[in-house]
Amino acid sequence: MQNSFKNNGEINIENFLNIKNIAIALLLSTVYVLLGILSMKYVTMSSGIAIAWLPNSLLLAFFLLKDIKQWKYYIPFFVMAEIVADYSTFTIIQALQFAFINIFETTLAAFLIKKFSGNQKVNFTNTKYVIMFFFIGLNIMPAIGALFGALVYSTRIDEHTTFFEFWRLWYFGDAVGILLLTPIMVILKENYESLKKYDFNILNIFVIVFALYLSIELFSTSNINLSLPATPFIFILALVWIIYKQGILPALILSLLISGTAIYYTVGGIGPFSIFLEKETTIYLQEFIFLLFIITIFVGALHKEIDDSKEELKKLNKTLENKVEEKTKSLVEANEKLIQLASKDTLTNIYNRRMIDEYISQETTKSKRHKSDFSLMILDIDYFKETNDKYGHQVGDEILIQICNIISNNIRESDIFGRWGGEEFILLLPQTNLDNAYIVAENLRNKIENHSFEKVGQKTISIGISQFDNIEDTKQFIKRADDAMYKAKNSGRNKVLVSE
Ligand code: GH3
Ligand code: MG
Ligand code: MG
Repeated sequence: MQNSFKNNGEINIENFLNIKNIAIALLLSTVYVLLGILSMKYVTMSSGIAIAWLPNSLLLAFFLLKDIKQWKYYIPFFVMAEIVADYSTFTIIQALQFAFINIFETTLAAFLIKKFSGNQKVNFTNTKYVIMFFFIGLNIMPAIGALFGALVYSTRIDEHTTFFEFWRLWYFGDAVGILLLTPIMVILKENYESLKKYDFNILNIFVIVFALYLSIELFSTSNINLSLPATPFIFILALVWIIYKQGILPALILSLLISGTAIYYTVGGIGPFSIFLEKETTIYLQEFIFLLFIITIFVGALHKEIDDSKEELKKLNKTLENKVEEKTKSLVEANEKLIQLASKDTLTNIYNRRMIDEYISQETTKSKRHKSDFSLMILDIDYFKETNDKYGHQVGDEILIQICNIISNNIRESDIFGRWGGEEFILLLPQTNLDNAYIVAENLRNKIENHSFEKVGQKTISIGISQFDNIEDTKQFIKRADDAMYKAKNSGRNKVLVSE
């Protein structure tokens, strides 16, 4: 336990040596041996040319999935497996050489694929990863490994085959083996859950059954006319359909079944590929398999990527919409706030002088057009300076607010009330003649006179009223009310006077 903490999660030999890990390593070795036997017995032409060398597909899948730090513990098991697999055909020295080449080829391939795909997790639904797998795993490393393999064959084994031919056989055999099984193994290990989602509808079953039936029919026939359509073209239709409907894994499995059928009959000496010499037959079959798988993997990866980016775009759009909505909302709020600030008096929260000016000109225009009544009053608090001096400015402010509240609560909705300046207010009364305005003013004066203000007690106001006369301008209209208000002051205050 302590060791694993010290090594920052890295497994050391003591940690590796437990039943579970050894069982896995032994299981992998057994599969390795079985794949070797399968390759030699069923995937090899009668002359000994392997169409696909399968064990390396397991090695590459394993190294791609496993963390590099843990590789070293499994390698001895793979060496043992190679010796067991080669036991009846090759010497121990040759088996060791093959083990070295295979492990060298697949570890370096896995290392380089990880490195050049940006160290991302194994991912056969990403085009960059698939391209790296194609270049390094299927071509560069098998081609390099094949150089050593051909060297062992051509120097140690008595054959009439040239070095170049050995090289090509090893290279293509490895590549096809890896193509057949590595992506399937990796995707099965990483995402076998996706198979559970398989939709067994009539059409999907029909496509698979038809593709399998066709492959058996085409690859088992000796009738050359019938076998002419034995090209990847027809199968690709089925594969692309399955990718589109079900994703890459079922399509890869179908590719494997079609390829398996083709290999089975071709190795048995029948079918369309068997009309050539053995070496040509191998190449044509390998190319058939290669095309089938490469198209499946690339179309699968592209399809997944397009699907994912569509999803991504949708999400992005949604967040963008939400953001715009949020911003619009706060903008509307800010705007309302701004309008409020620009039109209201901060202390009393009634209209300020700027707004009152606007309303007066609006209402006088209306009054002229509709020949309607329009009255206006100016209200001034009596002896307000005294109150300020006696109780302080803050108490004065409080009285201003309370008087405004009293007035606001005792006028109609259509009346417009604002602060004209200091402790003077203005009230606009649309559709109201002088007599009615007088009643309103008297009511207001009365309400205030009868209110008892905290600390201060009674306060009174003086009011002057004027009714709009079509021929005067707004200045005159206001001045008449103002003059009336001053007359009210001079005649004893706490009074309402109208301008005749
Ligand atoms: P009058 O009866 O003749 O109206 O006497 P007055 O003392 O009310 O005289 P005037 O209307 O000229 O008084 C204005 C005073 O109002 C001056 C100032 O101290 C006070 N005032 C003006 N604006 C404010 C304000 O926003 N808050 C407070 N607390 N006082 C204000
Ligand atoms: Mg006053
Ligand atoms: Mg005043």
